[in-house]
Amino acid sequence: MGSIAVIGSLNMDIVNRVERAPLPGETIQAVSTVYVPGGKGANQAVAAARAGARVEMIGAVGQDAFGEELLTNLSTSGVGTEGVLVEPGSATGIAFITVDALGENSIILSAGANGKLTPGKIAPNGRFALLPDWLILQNEIPYPTVAYALTYFAARGTYVIYNPAPACQLPEEDYRKISMLILNETEAAILTGSEVVSAEEISRAASILVDRGCREVIITLGARGLFYRGWEDQELFLEPFKVKVTDTTAAGDTFVGAYAAALAENMPIRDALRFASAAAALAVTQKGAQTSIPERVEIDRFLK
Ligand code: ADP
Repeated sequence: MGSIAVIGSLNMDIVNRVERAPLPGETIQAVSTVYVPGGKGANQAVAAARAGARVEMIGAVGQDAFGEELLTNLSTSGVGTEGVLVEPGSATGIAFITVDALGENSIILSAGANGKLTPGKIAPNGRFALLPDWLILQNEIPYPTVAYALTYFAARGTYVIYNPAPACQLPEEDYRKISMLILNETEAAILTGSEVVSAEEISRAASILVDRGCREVIITLGARGLFYRGWEDQELFLEPFKVKVTDTTAAGDTFVGAYAAALAENMPIRDALRFASAAAALAVTQKGAQTSIPERVEIDRFLK
């Protein structure tokens, strides 16, 4: 089985449940507050490890209690943490999440140490010398670091999975370094500058992205499943698994991590898509980010 590396963010999610969001200048009481390990990078690493892959995380936390907790949680999930820097004088990344009685949420992201993960810190050196078979990247670290990793690893034959979330425009030349682009409809709309709602629009958006140079594209469609477009014009829509939805947090991250794990096992594409959809469907049945990501035995049982 090949190795997977994830270069990305680690956050502590502080989730406040409230009756309604506070008005400007108002103080309100939370109904409940929970701390849940999150961050797109760490979520995807945990999803890949729980799905059965060998995974290393590269990122940064602050020198504080949240950082320690995030590292312990990664290790417990089976993710290697030697590549996670502890930044002196920085706070660990935090997502302040408020969820009201209607389930509407608002989020303030405080990048902390994630924002300090500059290209120099992931450049090969004594600490960082791995050459993974698969690499997963997202956008919760500075883009120059993402661009550096795309260039460095693509040139060395690593299969690079890029999840451009939160969405940002990237230089056309960077598309050519991406083996697999995995993004949701909103991100696809931002990257292509077009509507991505109907089946025709979804297929057209995927073609635009492949034409820019990435080999394969998956557009995830939430409760509508996903669309896959390969480099030889193969296209398919995959229906989602029917589950009772509790919380869709980390559905996309679970999909990305589980898909990488399936590739690391050499699963054919169709099986890998089905496997990752099952993992993501299980994640939406549970609350929270890393708390909702399923273990391999659960995925296998679900697929039987
Ligand atoms: P993101 O979290 O990035 O917005 P999506 O919402 O598109 O990602 O979800 C990613 C994947 O999770 C989907 O392609 C699908 O396989 C699965 N998924 C999401 N929502 C549901 C749902 N309500 N029922 C079943 N599967 C779902």
